[in-house]
Amino acid sequence: MRRIEHDITIMGSCFLVYKVSTSLFIKLIASVDFFMKTPILKHVIILLFIKNINKENGNSMKKFIIMVSLSALLFALTGCMLDTNQSEQSITIFSERHYDTDRVLFDLFEAETGIPVNVIDGGADQLINRLENEGEDTSADVLIIADAGRLHRAKSRDLLQSVESDTLFSNIPANYRDIDNYWFGLTKRARVLVYHPERVNGEALSTYEALTAPEFEGRIVTRTSTNIYNQSLMASFIEIMGEELARDFARGLVANFARTPSGNDRDQAKAVVQGIADIAIMNTYYIGRMMHSSDPFEREVADTVEVFFPNQDTTGTHINVSAAGVTKHASNVEGAIQFIEFLSGEEAQSSFANANFEYPVNEAVEPHVLLQSWGDFKPQAINLSVLGEHATKATIIMDEEGWE
Ligand code: FE
Repeated sequence: MRRIEHDITIMGSCFLVYKVSTSLFIKLIASVDFFMKTPILKHVIILLFIKNINKENGNSMKKFIIMVSLSALLFALTGCMLDTNQSEQSITIFSERHYDTDRVLFDLFEAETGIPVNVIDGGADQLINRLENEGEDTSADVLIIADAGRLHRAKSRDLLQSVESDTLFSNIPANYRDIDNYWFGLTKRARVLVYHPERVNGEALSTYEALTAPEFEGRIVTRTSTNIYNQSLMASFIEIMGEELARDFARGLVANFARTPSGNDRDQAKAVVQGIADIAIMNTYYIGRMMHSSDPFEREVADTVEVFFPNQDTTGTHINVSAAGVTKHASNVEGAIQFIEFLSGEEAQSSFANANFEYPVNEAVEPHVLLQSWGDFKPQAINLSVLGEHATKATIIMDEEGWE
């Protein structure tokens, strides 16, 4: 009787482990086949498994232990191959963007190339710091963030690498990519004047510099000088008009502020509608975002204000970009370059730009109808790489002129 009980226990255990092993093997085979696309490996595993099952018929504990050990070994082996292969094939994006339409684009890229895309969201500075802290161990292959000033920060901290790509060179105009090819602009935004049409005659507006005139005293709002958008605006003036005139602009603008700078770009447009100020300096895409906001007041603000592109007869309106760079320690450089090339292409550009009401950098692609309704405009003719180079000087000047 004892002998029978013993045999039943052994057979039960065999059956249980056999079931678990079978299911593990099926999953492994499916994964290996999917990711590695090597049917030969799959067949070797199946043969080993069948051979093992046949041997198992004796039900001896010894054979059973061999089977389990073999299973564990194969599991470890194929598991390692799977991990290595997956990290080589996939790409990981550190992105400041988090739009649903981006995911649709990434899925399209996956379908076209077979390269899986993992996305890690975060604030721009947070992602730059994380990239720096992770060093060689980072999982990031691509960094996508806004503002050339910030991309310069990532470049100067040695977090990106130079890329040679004829596709990127032809899709992206030279002034919207780094001079050493460490980053590539994907979308453009203009830093414009937004005004209340009942209190400001659009005809009376002309240039950024003209806002320093006495007639605009107490009527201007913009955010603080710690904000990268204003630092880049000032950096562009240093490049175009030199330090002294840039300083004159900062001094004159501060003298005409309606309030101590506070809030984000949307808050500046709101201040105009609330009657705190008449003119705000802000980025174009916030008008589009407010127009589609769930907050009724934001929609009212976007419907009320008018957009003005300054310096059309002189040096052009200030432009900045959202851009992407291949990280210094990317494990899939080729995949990363392919990904940025894909985003710069005609197929992806309008969707990528429209997600945030920005202008496509690829000149073959039309902007969103809202942006078209504002008309064409002349942008500043500078290479955006200089914005980062003048950023420190810009900050010092704003600070010295009392721009809080
Ligand atoms: Fe923004």
